[in-house]
Amino acid sequence: MSFKDLTMFNEAVFAKLSWQLLHDDNSLFFRVFKARFFPNGSILDAKESASPSYAWKGILIGRDVILKGALWRPKVISPIIFEPQNSSVEVLINQSNCRWRSEVIDHCFNLAEAKMIKNIPLSSTSQPDKLIWPFTPTGQYSVKSGYRFLFEGNNAQPPSSPSSSQEALPTKANLNRQKIVPDGVCDRCKRHSEDNSHALFFCSDVQVVWASDPQWQWLLAMQGQTAKEIFKRALEEDRNATLLAFTSWAIWNRRNQIRTGQTAWPLNQIPNTSKERKIEFQLLHPSNPKQQHKKHTRWKPPAEDNLKVNYDGAIFQEQGRACIGVVIRNSAGGVMASLSQQIPLPTTVAQVEAMAARRAVEFAPSLALHGLLIRDAQDLAISFTSINFSHVCRQGNIVAHNLARRQF
Ligand SMILES: [Zn+2]
Repeated sequence: MSFKDLTMFNEAVFAKLSWQLLHDDNSLFFRVFKARFFPNGSILDAKESASPSYAWKGILIGRDVILKGALWRPKVISPIIFEPQNSSVEVLINQSNCRWRSEVIDHCFNLAEAKMIKNIPLSSTSQPDKLIWPFTPTGQYSVKSGYRFLFEGNNAQPPSSPSSSQEALPTKANLNRQKIVPDGVCDRCKRHSEDNSHALFFCSDVQVVWASDPQWQWLLAMQGQTAKEIFKRALEEDRNATLLAFTSWAIWNRRNQIRTGQTAWPLNQIPNTSKERKIEFQLLHPSNPKQQHKKHTRWKPPAEDNLKVNYDGAIFQEQGRACIGVVIRNSAGGVMASLSQQIPLPTTVAQVEAMAARRAVEFAPSLALHGLLIRDAQDLAISFTSINFSHVCRQGNIVAHNLARRQF
């Protein structure tokens, strides 16, 4: 695990806080931060404060992650012809019938983009525009998807990842060796040469962190050893190496904040914050992932006097079409109604599933019965006495699946 990994993980955690400030305006957290840092507008408009707190600086770092990854709309390569003040998506939508305005879209975008836009399904009820995170099926940000997004973005660049255990951190001693700074003396204690192990473990400035927890007592006997040897011993003797890495990352980060004149992370918060980060990190990287057994699923009839609606979607990329299938059966397994229908090709499998859900709920009342589309399905579902949506494996949904594929 390199320090770069830890940095990305922390940025992913901060991005979660920024996401909450964008989407959850009822929380106390939102009200406190809004009053102090962005009384007018949203967090997207907020500037760095003159007296920034550590938390606010982190949230702004997280906001950059969100801005890098989140989407208001598909990336457009057609020349933009709207004036900025008119360039919202709503001008492309006929509000009276909730359909795309084909003539406007064809006029403004190139052929391929116009086709993509017109294939995006629109909600049949009026919903406000939302910033979505495209790396989760729900469009909601998660630390796991944020970390993966940063990780993949980083791996696309040439690797130059300094690892604390390889004596590769730009400490004063290392910089002095490369003749970048005139001396290698530690800026914090101003007494010792600042090599890796001094910067992370033995500077008098950070002793309070390691002394706060008896589990680090063994470090005292490691004086004079390199950081690489310390990490090696922690790994070999199973001495909580992950927490050691998070704590030393926080110490290194704080050292850099002091060096560049920024607000530094309070030393007394480092032990607890590092423990929290470690738990979150381990949730994303379980050391013994549980074996996922695929359950054998079979279609089961509904209870007596109930109907069961199964639905599914299928995508036919080559033909540029998608299809949905719906089947309604009674408690004896008898088919009461079925439907298979072609629809324009949506952009994701989740979207076609959500459209199938909406069609299923629209279709069911003719018998006497996921995004904005799911919301439509839920809105429409209010008219039922009881309704229950659930995901089942294909084996339990075979008829709806075959209906969805029947159009080709
Ligand atoms: Zn020092």
